Amino acid sequence: MSSKNKSISDLSQKHFSRLGEFLVSFELSKYGWNIYNPVYDEYIDLIIHKYVCKKCKKNWNQTPSLKCSKCSIDFSKSLKSKIIAKKVCLDCKNEWEGNRVQCVKCHSKDIRYIPTCHKCHSEVKMKILLCSCGSSEFVTILRTIQVKASRIEYDKETGITKRSYAVDMKPKDLISDGFHFYIWCLIDDKEQPHFLVMSVEEFKKTMGKSLKGTSFFKDQDRQHFSSVDFGKWKEYLNKFEKLE
Ligand SMILES: [Zn+2]
Ligand SMILES: [Zn+2]
Ligand SMILES: [Zn+2]
Repeated sequence: MSSKNKSISDLSQKHFSRLGEFLVSFELSKYGWNIYNPVYDEYIDLIIHKYVCKKCKKNWNQTPSLKCSKCSIDFSKSLKSKIIAKKVCLDCKNEWEGNRVQCVKCHSKDIRYIPTCHKCHSEVKMKILLCSCGSSEFVTILRTIQVKASRIEYDKETGITKRSYAVDMKPKDLISDGFHFYIWCLIDDKEQPHFLVMSVEEFKKTMGKSLKGTSFFKDQDRQHFSSVDFGKWKEYLNKFEKLE
């Protein structure tokens, strides 16, 4: 046994698949997707969704801005806890800060809370942000993802790298509802991930004839391609914008 660290090639197929899912999730989060793992679903490994501007499709900022109306301090991020809940008596308009929930002047319990700046004591206003294109409307996009993970193929006898990956899919696995995508996580010899992103239709098109066969030959639904230039699968390399 060598003393080097455990490497990806030492992982069992099951653990390697889980690693592929993790790497794909991590990559998707960089593109602003929220990611969920459905439990016990044979074909869907990840459900992803995000909000985008209805007009320009840019990622939508869901966090409303919280700003002081006078001194413009931004409370949206770290300062939320500094906001003071000022009270106003709805009967006599008396205002105060602190815990009292009854007006000292008229003893009314009819009071309203006003979020107030701790520095200048003016009202903090909440504003739903607009997109930079000016639009105030957003839409939700939802996709289902099947993750496949492949390592470099090695010759079983010599242990020499074949400099290739394989993709395969059983024809019964092909969900074509237009919202389902495949992401292949390909791990190279330096343990770096590469991703192929494609729709079910694109997968079928690229597999071509080998998917349509009805023979029982082994490897029928499997295709091998170069790990150097990715062959005809190259057009899907890191094409995460296809999901939008
Ligand atoms: Zn926009
Ligand atoms: Zn202020
Ligand atoms: Zn009062």
